[in-house]
Amino acid sequence: MLYYLSYIKSGEIYKIKKMKKNTNDIYQILYEKFGQAGCELNFNNNYELIVAVILSARCTDKRVNIISKDLFKKYPTVESLANANIEELEKAIYSCGFYKNKAKNLIGMAKDVVERFNGNVPSEFEDLISLSGVGRKTANVVLAVGFSKQAIAVDTHVFRVSNRLGIVDAKTPYDCEMGLQQEVDKDKWATFHHYLVLFGRYVCKSQNPSCKNCELKEHCKYVNTINK
Ligand code: SF4
Repeated sequence: MLYYLSYIKSGEIYKIKKMKKNTNDIYQILYEKFGQAGCELNFNNNYELIVAVILSARCTDKRVNIISKDLFKKYPTVESLANANIEELEKAIYSCGFYKNKAKNLIGMAKDVVERFNGNVPSEFEDLISLSGVGRKTANVVLAVGFSKQAIAVDTHVFRVSNRLGIVDAKTPYDCEMGLQQEVDKDKWATFHHYLVLFGRYVCKSQNPSCKNCELKEHCKYVNTINK
């Protein structure tokens, strides 16, 4: 299917013809594989969700779920986290890596939520990325998972799989997010994101992707290029 991609360069508007990858076919195959897949982090409310997503940077969801069990008992509300002692918090999240930065970001985020949003995690993208330590990926996960909005969060799996499949040809997570927004029907953004995460985690792994038995190999640019 053809569509037009517009961009502005030196004040001029350019339109280029682009062939749309049939992401509906890819979606259907992934739907049959994963069904109603969702986030693998454990949480009970949007406060716990945003904490878990911040902790999950460069850490497995499995590890985050182990840490968060006791963490949410120690800091049950955003107010308690805002008033946390940083050394105690660092100790509590030590095993998830980058614990010093994450502890600083968690307290900063919690203070922002308490002081600027009356203790409620905001539901708008611009508000979310204005929180200390919250970037596009975290904001998009919170929107999709916590507020059931259509958003595509680009983590390492989404970036790798969507590039390998050839849905996007992106150098940065931002370009990848914009490309996926063009290529995927909006009502499927959040689910497509979950599918790419799971597919990257269990099939299209960074090292040794399971290409031989891959359900998407007919759609994959990477495998079709190396097999030529
Ligand atoms: S064929 Fe290989 S590289 Fe392509 S999507 Fe499947 S596992 Fe990934």
